[in-house]
This record gives sequence, structure tokens and C-alpha cells, in this order.
Amino acid sequence: MGPIFEPKSESEIRQQIIWVSQELRKKNMLASADGNISYRISDERILITPSGLPKSFIKEKDIAVIDINNNILEGKPSSERLMHLEVYKKAPLAKSVVHAHPPRSIAWSIAFPDAKELPIGAMSELILAVGSVPIVSYARPGTVEMGTNLHHYLPGNRVMILARHGALSWGESLIESFCGMERLEHSVEILSAAHQLGTISELDESELSELKKLRKQLGDKTL
Ligand code: 13P
Ligand code: ZN
Repeated sequence: MGPIFEPKSESEIRQQIIWVSQELRKKNMLASADGNISYRISDERILITPSGLPKSFIKEKDIAVIDINNNILEGKPSSERLMHLEVYKKAPLAKSVVHAHPPRSIAWSIAFPDAKELPIGAMSELILAVGSVPIVSYARPGTVEMGTNLHHYLPGNRVMILARHGALSWGESLIESFCGMERLEHSVEILSAAHQLGTISELDESELSELKKLRKQLGDKTL
């Protein structure tokens, strides 16, 4: 199945969720039942992947439905749905949320437990594509804190590392959310390689401020 860029029906959104799950697995960002993906059709109808199933093997009918108040309308929704609902409540533009377990991004939060964000000043592309990447404090999987810990970063940040657990990316489309996850892991791969080779050097102040200006002009979307 190929990607559907502009889903026109609920069935096409369900197919797009499955496609994204399969792509994340191919990219080693999901093992077994890891991760969850949701899509807000409206506040009364939010599609979300089922809990405890390997996400890349699910069928359209396995996808659950909840509303913004956490009422379960169909199926067995993800145990981490409160985190998704927090994004939808705090970010009116959010149409979709992707949560995955990208290995290098998680490893970064383990290796640098005091870091509050990625050293974006090392890479022009990271500033232009996402602005900044916070490392959200650890919360036990499935708890309310998974959602409340995000408060501070919403709606300003669309891509975040969840310390010692995974990462979250939201967007105005499912493709934007997926690309945010891909962008994050690719960037951390580069930062990790630089760290192994020597130090993580940063661009100078004047270049950083030009890049930040450019990012402002480009808007809030993840590129
Ligand atoms: P769910 O299968 O309940 O969505 O949980 C997956 C996960 O990412 C656990 O951390
Ligand atoms: Zn998880």
C-alpha cells in the first residue's frame, strides 16, 4: 500500500494510519506493540491505534475511536491516549499525533539525563525544520503525567523527545507528524555520530539568529 497524501474518507485515514505504522517499523522506530498513532476527524471522533497490538500488522477494523473527553466509542484504544488528547486540547491546529520509540532519540535522553533540549545550534536544518526539540521529563507509560508533562511545550513545539521512553510528533496532517518523527531520529543520528567523532560544535551567534529569523518566516509547521 502506498501513502495517501490527502485522505478523503475515514477509510482512507485508517489506511494512512496503517501505512505510517509500517513505515515507522521499517525505519526501526517501533518494536512489537510499541507506539500509537491518532487522527482527529473532529473532537467527537478521534481515530487511535489499538492498545497492545503490533501496530504495523493492524487492519482498518482494529483502529479504535474516542472523543476529546476520553470516552471510548469503538474498540480498545491505546493506553497512552491521554497524551494524544492533551495535544488535541492544547493545540487547536493538531490533526494527528504520532508516538514512536526511535532508538537514537531515546538513547540521547539516557546519555544526557540533565539535557532539557537537543543542541539544535549544531545543525541549520534542525532549526529551520522544527525550531527546537524539548526533552520532556520522564513519565511512567500510561499515566496522566504523560499528558500533563507536555503542557509547557504546547502548542509551540511539534516534535519532542519523551525521556527514557520515546518521542512525540504532531501535525496538521498525518504526513507532517510522520515527517517530524523521521526528522527527529535522522537529526539525532547525525548528532550522535558527531559526538562519537569528537565534540558537538555549534554555529556562531549571528548565524543562529539569522536561522531563527528564517524559521519564523517559514511558520510553525514541521518541515
Ligand atoms: P499502546 O499499545 O497501549 O498504544 O502502548 C504502546 C506504547 O508505546 C507503550 O509505551
Ligand atoms: Zn510508548
